[in-house]
Amino acid sequence: MGRVDSRAVLVTGASRGIGRAVARRFAAGGDRVAIHHRDSAELAERLRAELPGDGHVVVAADLADPDAVRAAVDEAATRLGGLDVLVNNAGVFGPADPPHPVFETTYEQWRQRWRQIVDTNLLGAANAAWCAAQHMRDRGGRIVNVSSRGAFRGEPGNPAYGASKAGMNAMGQSLAVALAPYGIAVATVAPGFVETDMTNEHLKSPRGAAVRAQSPFDRVARPEEIAAAVHWLASPEAEWASGTIVDLNGASYLRS
Ligand code: NAD
Repeated sequence: MGRVDSRAVLVTGASRGIGRAVARRFAAGGDRVAIHHRDSAELAERLRAELPGDGHVVVAADLADPDAVRAAVDEAATRLGGLDVLVNNAGVFGPADPPHPVFETTYEQWRQRWRQIVDTNLLGAANAAWCAAQHMRDRGGRIVNVSSRGAFRGEPGNPAYGASKAGMNAMGQSLAVALAPYGIAVATVAPGFVETDMTNEHLKSPRGAAVRAQSPFDRVARPEEIAAAVHWLASPEAEWASGTIVDLNGASYLRS
């Protein structure tokens, strides 16, 4: 892959949550980060200013808009002087689970929800990967996708979310094979619950205790724990991890 001293890294959805922790992790390692956001310019600028090192930039795009994705990836590559790493982190869960995802939504709500979630989580990530790969073709690189535990088991209250993340897992495996000849490794992390704005309300609700109790550590993940895995999967030494899906769940499945 490209320069290993200071790599050019694009992190989508980096203004908060897991993405912010990922951006901080790369910057702490000496990399130059393009902080992508959709409509959080102030948060993104604040993060840019606080990151250690120089050369970080902010780019904006609605990932559900293919032209905006291309423009943002190209802008990041231009301003960072190339692209070594893409972290496909941005994602949307949508409104809180309806009590029944089929019979308590109208057909229109159902279609809108699928469209919004798949457009962002799956197509947004696929389009960003295509655009990033153009910049990595001659120098190699890393693409790390942030999927979800819902990719393995579905998401009963939100089928579109589980399906979008399962699609992301399969996309990562396919691209790992297609891009290997170009020195581009592609890997995926699939976290269970992580303490972020996406899960805040749920974790504070009466169901929060049950969620924490799924893990024998009796807690959910911290964004920094996901960032550490992403950082390693994007490292020069992680080529052999290409095609893997890292199931980061604090032993949640393993209680009898
Ligand atoms: P978050 O809601 O704090 O962050 C998501 C980010 O994605 C936000 O910055 C948001 O603006 C951005 N985003 C959403 N839709 C977008 C769009 N159309 N265009 C551009 N940006 C958009 O949530 P988070 O927990 O930090 O989630 C980060 C990733 O991790 C997501 O892909 C999510 O699905 C995944 N994930 C989260 C958890 C969890 O428990 N928090 C678990 C598994 C996977």
